[in-house]
Amino acid sequence: MEKASGRSFLDRVTDTNAAWIEYRLSREILVRDFEKGRISKADICDAQPELLRLAHHIGQSNGEKCPICKNNQVVLVYFMFGPQLPRSGKPVAPGFELLSMMKARPDANFYEVEICTGCNWNFLMRTFEGAALKHKKRQHSKS
Ligand SMILES: [Zn+2]
Repeated sequence: MEKASGRSFLDRVTDTNAAWIEYRLSREILVRDFEKGRISKADICDAQPELLRLAHHIGQSNGEKCPICKNNQVVLVYFMFGPQLPRSGKPVAPGFELLSMMKARPDANFYEVEICTGCNWNFLMRTFEGAALKHKKRQHSKS
């Protein structure tokens, strides 16, 4: 079941969940595998120093606890990929910078990464294709 309050600022502004591709199920499977001892912490808590630095500076908490260490709150960091952007993606601050980039760059794709600065857990939570904004009227919604 999806939490009614779980809709982010972004979801409300882009006014569609369908445009985002979610990886929450993969995340749950990964966390379960970790809890059952099938994978090690080192395999999944491997955030690079740059990613941790970004998490500290522009990460935005969504109020959720880290699924691995269960101590820290995770933060979300966004990256923009597309023509004339660095191959590793351009970090984008959540909120207005992200929203204005989404509007300005329909040719770009946006990635939402969840990071725990306590144990270095990191996971690609969602991707958003900029072009999806243009075509959202054509999408049929599942409810
Ligand atoms: Zn953690």
